[in-house]
Amino acid sequence: MSPVPRVVYALSDVLLFQPVSPFAGLPSSPSHSPTIVPIPASADPGPALLFHAQSARLVSLIAAGNPALVANLILHLAELANKPVVLHLTAEDDLSDVLLLRPAVPYFLLSSSAQQAHDNALLASRLARSEHKLVVHVYNPALSEDSLEDISEEKLRAFLVNPSPSGTANSVNGTPSVLQQLYKSYEAAALATLSLVRRPFRPLVVKGTPNPHTVVFTLGLNDIHVPVDGVTFVSVALMSPLPSARILSAIPESVSRVVVLEQIHRWSVKWTPLYMDVVSALQDREYEQRPVVQTGLLGDTASLTEADVLKFLQSDPESSRLQLGALPSPVTASSIPPHIPKHELSYTKILSHLFDERLEISNSPSLVESQGEIATSPEFALGRVRGQLDERAELVSAVQDLLQSKGLDESLHTSLAKWLLARENAVESKALGASIVKSLQEAPPAHPSTARILALRGHFASVSRWIIGSDAWSYDLGASGLHHAIASGLNVNVLILDTLPYSSRNSADPTRRKHDVGLYAMNHGDVYVASVAVYSSYSQVLQALMEADKFNGPSVVLAYLPYESESASALQVLKETKIAVDTGYWPLYRWDPSKEALGKEPFSLDSDAVKNDLQQFLDRQNHLSQLVRSKPQLASELVSSLGESVKEARKKKAQQSYNELLTALDAPPLLVLYASDGGAAEKLAKRLANRGTARGLSTTIATLDSMSLESLAQEEYVAFVTSVAGQGEPPQNGRTFFKALNAAVARGDQMLTKLRYSVFGMGDSHYWPRPEDAQYYNRPGKDLDARLEKLGGERVAALGLGDDQDADGPQTGYKEWEPLLWKALGVDAIEVTEAEPEPITNEHIKAASRYLRGTILEGLDDTTTGAIAPSDGQLTKFHGIYQQDDRDIRDERQAQGVEPAYSFMIRVRMPGGVCKPDQWLQMDQIADEHGCGTFKITTRQTFQFHGVIKRHLKPAIQDINRVLLDTLAACGDVNRNVTCSSIPTLSKLHEKVYQFAKSVSEHLIPRTTAYHEIWLDKKQVAGEALKDFEPLYGDFYLPRKFKIAVAVPPNNDVDVFANDLGFIAVVDDNGELSGFNMTIGGGMGVTHGNKKTYPRIGDIIGFCTPEQGKYVAEKVMLVQRDNGNRADRKNARLKYTIDKMGLDVYKAEHHFMMFIENGRVQDEPGRDFKTGLREIAKVHKGVFRLTTNQHICISDIASEDLPEIKRLLAEYKLDNLEHSGLRLASSACVAFPTCGLAMAESERYLPILIDKVEKICEENGLRNDAIVMRMTGCPNGCARPMWQASPFDSGKPISSHMSSEVAFIGKAPGSYSMLLGGGYYGQRMNKIYRETVSEHEILAILTPMIKRYALERLEGERFGDFTIRAGYISPTVSGMKWYEGMGGEGEHREITA
Ligand code: SF4
Repeated sequence: MSPVPRVVYALSDVLLFQPVSPFAGLPSSPSHSPTIVPIPASADPGPALLFHAQSARLVSLIAAGNPALVANLILHLAELANKPVVLHLTAEDDLSDVLLLRPAVPYFLLSSSAQQAHDNALLASRLARSEHKLVVHVYNPALSEDSLEDISEEKLRAFLVNPSPSGTANSVNGTPSVLQQLYKSYEAAALATLSLVRRPFRPLVVKGTPNPHTVVFTLGLNDIHVPVDGVTFVSVALMSPLPSARILSAIPESVSRVVVLEQIHRWSVKWTPLYMDVVSALQDREYEQRPVVQTGLLGDTASLTEADVLKFLQSDPESSRLQLGALPSPVTASSIPPHIPKHELSYTKILSHLFDERLEISNSPSLVESQGEIATSPEFALGRVRGQLDERAELVSAVQDLLQSKGLDESLHTSLAKWLLARENAVESKALGASIVKSLQEAPPAHPSTARILALRGHFASVSRWIIGSDAWSYDLGASGLHHAIASGLNVNVLILDTLPYSSRNSADPTRRKHDVGLYAMNHGDVYVASVAVYSSYSQVLQALMEADKFNGPSVVLAYLPYESESASALQVLKETKIAVDTGYWPLYRWDPSKEALGKEPFSLDSDAVKNDLQQFLDRQNHLSQLVRSKPQLASELVSSLGESVKEARKKKAQQSYNELLTALDAPPLLVLYASDGGAAEKLAKRLANRGTARGLSTTIATLDSMSLESLAQEEYVAFVTSVAGQGEPPQNGRTFFKALNAAVARGDQMLTKLRYSVFGMGDSHYWPRPEDAQYYNRPGKDLDARLEKLGGERVAALGLGDDQDADGPQTGYKEWEPLLWKALGVDAIEVTEAEPEPITNEHIKAASRYLRGTILEGLDDTTTGAIAPSDGQLTKFHGIYQQDDRDIRDERQAQGVEPAYSFMIRVRMPGGVCKPDQWLQMDQIADEHGCGTFKITTRQTFQFHGVIKRHLKPAIQDINRVLLDTLAACGDVNRNVTCSSIPTLSKLHEKVYQFAKSVSEHLIPRTTAYHEIWLDKKQVAGEALKDFEPLYGDFYLPRKFKIAVAVPPNNDVDVFANDLGFIAVVDDNGELSGFNMTIGGGMGVTHGNKKTYPRIGDIIGFCTPEQGKYVAEKVMLVQRDNGNRADRKNARLKYTIDKMGLDVYKAEHHFMMFIENGRVQDEPGRDFKTGLREIAKVHKGVFRLTTNQHICISDIASEDLPEIKRLLAEYKLDNLEHSGLRLASSACVAFPTCGLAMAESERYLPILIDKVEKICEENGLRNDAIVMRMTGCPNGCARPMWQASPFDSGKPISSHMSSEVAFIGKAPGSYSMLLGGGYYGQRMNKIYRETVSEHEILAILTPMIKRYALERLEGERFGDFTIRAGYISPTVSGMKWYEGMGGEGEHREITA
C-alpha cells in the first residue's frame, strides 16, 4: 500500500475516496477514527468536500486524477481555495489532467518517489490545516517503497496538534505579495515537517555538477538518477507557489542551455506550464546572459542510462520538441474506457433492450479507444449528434432530389417515397433503406444524388440517440454542456443518473445548489422531461424512455440510482429509492409537451408525493389550472402533499395534548408504553391500561417508538411493557427509542428527572440453549429499567419479569408486578367492582362480523386513511386480503408524522394452481393497474398481488372475478386453496385429480354472501330478511387456517404430509384413479421459543374413494372446528388437536417447466420475464400450472404453437435452464417489505446468499447437485423451511421428491436460525442446528460441511441424510420431539460454557 493513505488516515478528520477505498487493511486506531465518505465513481466530490470543510479541521480526498474528476473539481476550486482541504491525486505516467488544476490552487505539490510522497502527504496536511488553504498533492502510487521510512502514528497525530501558525512574510519592500505570503507559509510548514521527518523539503531538488553548462528541469512522477558531467538535473517538487527567484537560482550564469522536460502528453496550448515559468523567470536576466531554453517530453526514466541522456543532450538544439525516456503507449495514455459502475448498468441494459440496434449512445465509453477521453463528455456527444443529424438531413434532401429526376425506376421511386414518409419509423426506415441501397447499387441512376445517397446510407435507419451522464452536470448547466443539449432543439435524449442516496443528502453541501435539471428543462417548454427510478417503478422507466425516444426534440430523463459505493447491495439501492420516492425527494413524473397539441395534459405525476419547488412550478403554469379542472382528485392530491399531512398530524397531537391536560385535572395520569413484535406485550399493555382506567387513572397507551425522549421527559408516571426479539434485541416498534436512549446514556444526560417509572419485561428463560446466552433473557426489559434510572428517572416499582417457563407463563410475574405499580400510584386501595372488559379476540370479531361483513364497506369509503379498522383487517383475510404496510419506509414516515404506507396483499383462490391464458393476462394487467407491477406465485399454487392501495382493492377484486377466479377463503380461518400435484406428463390423471381438488375446494367454501356484497356490489340477501347461514363453519368459522393438498405418487411436490389434510392418489393397474390414502395433522409453523408449537408430519389414517373425498374432508374439518384450541391461536392447528385427542378419535404432450426465482413474476433489466409470460399467454391455448415450489409449468402446448412459444421462451430468456441445482431447489417467502410478521429479509436476500453458497458448491464439484435450501422471514413457515421442498424438473419429467435440507428462519434483521437434516424424500423434518447465525457464520458453517459432503458422501446420499450420518445433527422422529437434539451433535454442538 502506498504510504499516503496511512498518513492521511492518521491526520484527517474527514476522508473521502473515489472510487475504491485505499484504507482497507489499515489497522483501526483506538484514539482516532476519521469519518470516511465514499464517493461513487464519476460522481462529483465537490459538494461533499465543501460541506465537510465547514466544520472539520482537515478534509482529505484520495482519488485518481482522471479527466472526469478534474472536470468536476475545477468547478469548485474557487470555493475550496480557502478551506483546509488536501486533494491527494494519483497519476502514473501523465500529468496533463492534474496540471489543469494548478492555476486555481494555492499549493500544488508533486512527489516523484514513495518517500517524497510520504513526506509531502505530511507537509500538505500541515499546510492545509494551519493555513486553511487548499493543497493539491500529486503522486504515483506505483512507486517502489523499498527503504521507506515511516513515522509512528502517535508522532503523526502529535505533529498536527496545535500546529504553530506560519509566519506571515515581511516583505523587504513593505506589504508582501500573495505569492510571497504563500511561499513563506510553505517554508514554515516545510521547516516544521523537517523537524519530524529529519529530511529537507526543497521546492526544486537540484542534482549535478557545480558549474554546469546545461540545466535539465524535470516535472514528472519519477526521478532521474544518472549523473552526467556538466549537467544539472532540477526536479520540481513545488509547482505552486514557485517564485521566479527560485528558478533563477537553479540556473547559474555558467549555463548556456536549459531543457525543460515535462510529463505532459496531452496539452491543448502550445506552451507547457513549467516551460512558461522558466522562460518568464529568465526575463529578469540581461538578454545576453539568457541561455537557450528548449522544451520536451518526459517519459519513463526508470531505466535510463548515461548513454541515453548523452544522446538526448546531443540532439538538435534547434529541435522544438525533445523527448527523454519511453513515452506511454497511446492505449495506456488515453484509450482506456472509463469504468462503468455495475449499478448503472441497470439503466443502460434497459436502453439496449428497448432500442436494440437502434440505440446510439453518443458518449459511449467504447468511443474512447478511437476518439480519446473527450468522447465521454456531453459537448463531444452533442457535436456528434448534431453532425449525424445534419448528415441525415442531407440524405433526406438527396433523396428528395433523386425523386424529382425523370426516368427513375418505378420500384425505386416507390421505395424512396415510402422512406421519406416512414423515415422516423424504426423498423420500416431500416428495411426500406436496405432495399434502396440494393437498387442503387444494382442499377445506379445517372443522377448526382446517387453517389451522395450511397455515401450517406448509414443514416437510412432511424436511430435513438442518447447521451448519458451524471448529476454532476447539474451543478453548472452551462459549463457541463447540458444547457446546450436542452436548448439545441435537436432530437437527442439525455439520461442523467443521480446517485446521491437519500440518507446521505444532508451530508452533501446544502449551500451548494444543484440545479433541478427537470425544472430547468420544463421551463424551456419544448423539452420532454421525466423523472424516474428503476428500483421504484420499472414500468414507468420503460414508459418514460419510450416517450423520450418518440418525442421529436430534446428529452431529459432524470434517473435515480442511489448508491454509496459499488459494493452497495441492490437491496440498499432499493430501500434508498423507496424512501426518496415516498417522501417526495425524488418524485416520479413525466412532462410531454407534445401532448398539449392533442389537448391532453402534458404533466403526469407517477408517484404520490411531489417536491415543493416542483409544486410551485406546476402552480405557476396554466397547465395546472387545466389539470385542476380536468382531474380534480389529482389536484387535491398534489396540494395535500406531505406538508399538509404533517400539519394535520401536529394538529392532532396538539388536540391530544389538550385532552390529556383536561383529563389529568381529575386523576393522576399514567402513560403505558409498549414494544411488541408478536402481539403478547401489546395485549398485556392494553390490559394494564384498561385496569388503570378502571382505577380512576387517566391512562394513555402508545408504542415506544412513538415517543421521543424529549416528550418522555415531560411525563410523570410511565409503565413500560416490552418483549424480546432476536438475540436479546428490542422489538421492532421500540428500536428507535432504544437507540435514542442508549445515545442519551452515552452522553451522560440527566434528562428524565421528572419521570417515575416501572418496567415489565416478557421473555423465555429457556429460549437459548447455551448457558452463556442466558444474558439475553428479558434483555430489553432489564436494559430499559437500568437506563431510565441512569437518565435520572425514579423507579417506583421494581422491574417485573414474565417468563414463558413459569407455571402460568408471563402472568406469574405479572401478577406480582401489577399490584406494586398500583401501590406506587396510590390506587391500590381502590376496589374495582366493574368487571374488566374482556380483551377482544379473533373469535369475538368473527362472531360479531355478521358473516364476515364487519365494517369493511364503511372502511373502504373512508378516504382519511389508507388503512381499514383493525377488526376488519381480521375479516378481510377471509376474503383473501391482508392489510400490510411498507416496512422499508415505515421509520421515515413516522419521523414525518404521517401514517404508515398502507397497502394490501390479495391472494387468489385457484384450486390445483391451474390458470388459463386469459386469466394469466388478467393477472398481469391487475399487477400493473392495481398493484406494485409484479406478482408472486405462492407455495400454495396461487397468485398473490402486493402493494394494492385501498381505493384499488375493489376494482382489483372485480377484475379477478371477471375471469372467473376469486379470492374468497384464500386466507383466514377457513379451508385454504387446495393444492394438487402438477403432473404434466399424465394429463388424463391430472385432470381427474384437479377436478377432485376443485370439488373439495368448492365443497368447503364459506357460503356467506358478504364477499359478493362488498366486492362485487351485489345486494345483501333479501334486504337482511333472509339471514346468512354457514352450514359448515357456523358463526365462529375455524379456530385456525385449514390446508388440504392432493398428491399423485411418485410426485410429492405439494408436501402432502405437511398439510392438515392430505390425499395421496391411488392409481390402479390401468392407470385409472381408484381413490386416495389420507393423511391428517401436518403443519410447519412454529413460534420462536414457544415449545407448545412445533412442526409435525401428517399421519396416514385410511382410504377413501374420489366420491367420498369431499365428505371426508368436511368431517375432518368439522372435528377440528369443534375441538381446535380457540383460546390460543398459536396452538390451534389440527396437528395440535390430533396430538391432544389422539389419532384414534379420527379413525372413524407438450409441457415446459420454467424456473421463476422465489415465484416473483417481474420485469428486471435484462430479464423481462413478466413481459415474456404475457406474450406467451397471448398465444398459448393450454393452461399454466403453478407449482407449489413457486414455478410455472406451461402445459398442453398445441403443436402448432410450439415454434412460437419456443421462440418467445428464447427471446425472453425464459428457457434458461442453466441454473445450479442449489438455486433450482431454493425457495423463499415474501417477508420484507410487506409482510408484517417478518423479522428478517427473505425473498430479497436468499438469491444473494445462494450466489455465495453456489460458489462453494461449484468449488466442490456440486453444481448440479440439488441441496434444498429454503428461507423464511419468521417461523410462520410460508416457504416450508422446516419441511419438504418440491421437485423442479428443468423441462424433464418430474420423478423425485426433495426435502428442505438446509433452512433459515428469520429472527432479526441479518440473523437467522439455521436448520439441518431434512429428508430429501419428504420422510423427515429438519431441526435447529444453530439458534442464531449471520451470513458470515452461515458461510463458515457450510464451507467445510459442503466440502466434506463432496468428499465423503455415499453413492446417492442426499445432503440432509449426510448431515445426520456425519454427526452434525440428530434425526427428527416426530414433531413433539422436534426440540430434542437442537443445537447439533457431539463436536458439532454449539459450544457450551
Ligand atoms: S414466513 Fe413469516 S415472514 Fe415469511 S411471509 Fe410468512 S409470515 Fe411473512
